[in-house]
Amino acid sequence: MKFEHFFMDYISNICCISDNLLLDYKEMVPILGRTLFSLHVNKIDDLDGMVGLQNLGNTCFMNSILQCLNKSPLLLNYIISDHYKLDIAKPGAARFEGNFLRAFSEVMKKLWTSRMEVTPAVFRNSIKKLNSIYQGFGQEDAHEFYNHLINGLHEELDTTKKSGPKGINQASWYDFCKGDTKITDIFAMQMKHNYECLECYSKSTEYHTSFDMSLPMKKAFRTINMEDIIEDFIESTSNNMCKKCSKLTLHNCKKEFVHLPEVLVLYFQRAEKLGKLKTEMQYPVENLNFTKYAIKGNPKLATYTLYAICLHAGDCATSGHYWAECRHPKTSEWNKYNDTRVSSILKGTTATGSRECVFFYQRK
Ligand SMILES: [Zn+2]
Repeated sequence: MKFEHFFMDYISNICCISDNLLLDYKEMVPILGRTLFSLHVNKIDDLDGMVGLQNLGNTCFMNSILQCLNKSPLLLNYIISDHYKLDIAKPGAARFEGNFLRAFSEVMKKLWTSRMEVTPAVFRNSIKKLNSIYQGFGQEDAHEFYNHLINGLHEELDTTKKSGPKGINQASWYDFCKGDTKITDIFAMQMKHNYECLECYSKSTEYHTSFDMSLPMKKAFRTINMEDIIEDFIESTSNNMCKKCSKLTLHNCKKEFVHLPEVLVLYFQRAEKLGKLKTEMQYPVENLNFTKYAIKGNPKLATYTLYAICLHAGDCATSGHYWAECRHPKTSEWNKYNDTRVSSILKGTTATGSRECVFFYQRK
């Protein structure tokens, strides 16, 4: 047998990564010699995952979020092992007939199998169908894109077509949706907001479920601590409608987590009317403790380790430039992913910066 035939046979036997992922000869050469029949995070090599993504015209918002999601072991194990295919095959699933998930899976796999930069052209086309705002070539908001992407993945898998992770007074939303999709299992969180009117002292509650936690950022001329911003958000005051007073009154709002996610996505709102807040923030890389924010009686520890950040330079979210910093799931070393450029960086147990906007923490 000629080597080329043997090679192609070998490839078709071992490379059942995906029916829709036919890597061409050139792309296969750098990965020859590695067993690919079951792509799994445990089988990732130290040198894998060190490739960037081509910018297809202001697509750094997309590239940075893709790199952050690509370094999540829980999501990767589900996507690159093809386990998701069983779920999109279920009756009622696959809003986009599975095409969106397959396009996402293709990029995720290529970022672990290629030794050259990846062109996310198929995925770029698929996000145009996800939301019309991605049909143009403008710079988009990376945090908003994260939400569209994660909701899109959820909808591809959702067989129940429930109203989704929004809504008020849905105390049992998480129990209701638990196990619906792998996306809710990994990313969904639920918070209980306990309101108290500061005029009549009447109390009310609301439940909020989401795939991330959005935190208001304050202007400060000193370095502020991420945990202080979280504390300020957990217990805050705001003007709300009071049913008893029949008017807008000042309310105290204490928040607690009914359900804490496996991957905690924190978004810091740096954008404001007069430009972007460039306040320096110190944040934990190891040991972000959320146990104290869990609803009383929940004995589970909730400590998180940072594994990816989406950063932004520029004056507003829809201009400027985005890039990512990610921890390699195997070596634990940090790399900067700036479109096609990948470089090694150092991070201690805490870090400081003014450009970080979306943080991805993995529960320990
Ligand atoms: Zn009142």
